[in-house]
Amino acid sequence: MSENKDFLRVIVEEDIKKGTYKEIVTRFPPEPNGFPHIGHAKSICINFGIAKDYSGHCNLRMDDTNPTTEDTKYVEALKDAVKWLGFKWIGEVRYTSDYFPKIYEYAVKLVKMGKAYVDSLNEEEIKEYRGTVTTPGKRSKYAQRTIEENLDLLEKMKNGEFKDGEHVLRAKIDMGAANMKMRDPLLYRIRHAHHFRTKDEWCIYPMYDFAHCLSDYIEGVSHSICTLEFENNRDIYDWLLDELDLTPPRPYQHEFARLGINYTVMSKRKLLELVNGNYVSGWDDPRMPTIAGYKRRGYTPESILNFCDQIGIAKANSMVDVSQLEFCIRDDLNKKVPRVMCVLDPIKVTIENYEGDEEIEASYYPHDVPKEGSRKIPFSNEIYIEREDFMENPPKEYNRLTLEQPVRLRHAYIITCKEVIKDSLGNIVEIKALYNKDSKSGQDKSGIKVKSAIQWVCAKKAKRVEVRLYDRLYKNEAPESLEDLNPNSLKIIKDALIEPAVILEKADERFQFERQGYFYADPIDYSDENPVFNKIVGLKDSWAKKSKTEEKPKVEIKVEPKKEVIHGEAQAMSEEQQTLFDRYTNKLNLNGEVANILARDTNLSSFYESCLNELNSPITLANIVANDVAKELKDKGKLNFTSSQIVELVKMIDEETISSKIAKQVFEEMAQTGQNPSKIVESNGLVQISDPKIIEPIIDEIIAKNPDNVEKYRAGNDKLFGFFIGQVLKATQGKANPKVVNELVTKKLKA
Ligand code: ATP
Ligand code: MG
Repeated sequence: MSENKDFLRVIVEEDIKKGTYKEIVTRFPPEPNGFPHIGHAKSICINFGIAKDYSGHCNLRMDDTNPTTEDTKYVEALKDAVKWLGFKWIGEVRYTSDYFPKIYEYAVKLVKMGKAYVDSLNEEEIKEYRGTVTTPGKRSKYAQRTIEENLDLLEKMKNGEFKDGEHVLRAKIDMGAANMKMRDPLLYRIRHAHHFRTKDEWCIYPMYDFAHCLSDYIEGVSHSICTLEFENNRDIYDWLLDELDLTPPRPYQHEFARLGINYTVMSKRKLLELVNGNYVSGWDDPRMPTIAGYKRRGYTPESILNFCDQIGIAKANSMVDVSQLEFCIRDDLNKKVPRVMCVLDPIKVTIENYEGDEEIEASYYPHDVPKEGSRKIPFSNEIYIEREDFMENPPKEYNRLTLEQPVRLRHAYIITCKEVIKDSLGNIVEIKALYNKDSKSGQDKSGIKVKSAIQWVCAKKAKRVEVRLYDRLYKNEAPESLEDLNPNSLKIIKDALIEPAVILEKADERFQFERQGYFYADPIDYSDENPVFNKIVGLKDSWAKKSKTEEKPKVEIKVEPKKEVIHGEAQAMSEEQQTLFDRYTNKLNLNGEVANILARDTNLSSFYESCLNELNSPITLANIVANDVAKELKDKGKLNFTSSQIVELVKMIDEETISSKIAKQVFEEMAQTGQNPSKIVESNGLVQISDPKIIEPIIDEIIAKNPDNVEKYRAGNDKLFGFFIGQVLKATQGKANPKVVNELVTKKLKA
């Protein structure tokens, strides 16, 4: 649960308590040598997220100490990514190169202290002298140079009097240190290279270990958060900042686990190889794990933020299943985007008994989505359906159109097949069909039973579109080389047909193509002459089935994606299930998704029924049973609590004794310990606070502490409303009654 603080926030809160820092300052420090990927998104969420949570700030700093690989186009991509994810850095973008003069001064200071020296061993000798994990290294004879000699050499290095590799500056630490990084680490090297910002001003460049801690210090960073591979560098970080005897406070480094995702590569070097070798169309190819790639493919920032939140922050590296990311985008789009019809592989159907034309008004959203909007779908005697939605010799479980079996055209009529027309090779080229005029969707009096509804488009009015279907970039879970690339990762369909509303209205840029998946109008290639849609993700995890037969996934999946209900594609229900479903939706007013989950699972439906016997609160009960109880049952295979305990919990929610946020916490504890909810609430003091007398002073304090935000809000930045609500909830550990908080904050901010 996200209320549980991660270890980084625990550290930050301890430092706040100790009063070490005036402000919490973090930074996101990418090297501008490639486009940021989803791993960077995690780092962005952590750094900007922590700064935001503790009312501090986060700097965006280009770690540009390696002139040969860096470029402004990467700087722009990094800025875009941070902005797109919804974060803001304060002031200008920072550059390590801006600190080159300062960093050089610190180097001189170290030399003067006798703590750094110019070494003239060559690269190989340096390596050899370093020793191994089991044997200590030995110090270079140049370490005996006097301070004057060192100062002179360093100055000459800086002035360009030596060739690359002739000398380096090293810290004088300990050639026998167990941590090999501490064996006199390099601080500066000579590089006669053109830098994209400092041009030819410098020919010596500071090493990461030297530049990073100092840049952090210079910027007043409090928490320098990086990935685990820098764990051993932390000793250098500490040594340098301590030895330099700087005015406190100084930053400290904390490491978290890198994000890895299966079926892709993440290192910028490997991604660059794909770009340069034209294996993909560019850094923003929709198959790339880059932010630019996800953006172009149609992912929303919300889905990426949710993903980063779900995977959490850990201390041990692990691989996350890409299906979890796919789950997040589906989950986000499911309720947001209009559903329309597109036929990817069309076959013509002539409806012989239909005459004239009509336009069918159809909602863009299913009834359980709280959004409105509709369009007119043209219908006539010539339509196209998906080739695979008709079969001459179907297997038993085939639910769509066959010679004997009728099917519903989504939003329209039921048709039956009369005849199939084949070409000389025996391929079906056309289907002749009949429609039932009493079967119109929503007014069906025909009494005909069908097993499914399929998408279609009107032959006369449909528009041609190009559809790009993307699959995973690699065919292996842990790709090792280019040979592991998935040859079918991109399939282009030039002649798909889409209902005209999508083109005319373009009500949104993202759509669900019914029964196909989620699609996005390609932001670059889409034009009126050639409308192009990218497939964002399918409606369900098509790989889940495949990987079962191929190989067992070795991947650790931390959060189980929720079971998804796919409109129009679900397995038929048994009669019993259908009866339950109908009762739940019609009588108890449950939404279709929840009703579906309950009706299909006997354990859940009987649990739900016994709850209902005790308490008439069908909707709250259903939500808890279909979500939390179902998850518990799935994870543990058993329940630690009874239906009466759930009833007790729901009563407290309904009576507003506890907030629904707190209810989650109570549920978790009940599921763990089996204790009664009222006991848990009592012993943890979780009772909801609704008394304005208690809440008002809290709001006053927050308003007093955040004058800037108050001013901005009053100047029209409505988004900040959420900030104030969040702060109050946080201050009351989620116990404040959100309704009351809302009213009071509104009132106070107006004043
Ligand atoms: P790569 O190895 O993929 O090229 P990098 O570590 O060299 O990445 P940087 O530009 O140096 O990339 O990284 C900027 C910040 O993003 C660093 O703080 C780094 O720790 C973090 N970061 C990079 N990759 C990941 C990842 N996979 N998961 C989490 N954070 C990451
Ligand atoms: Mg790096």
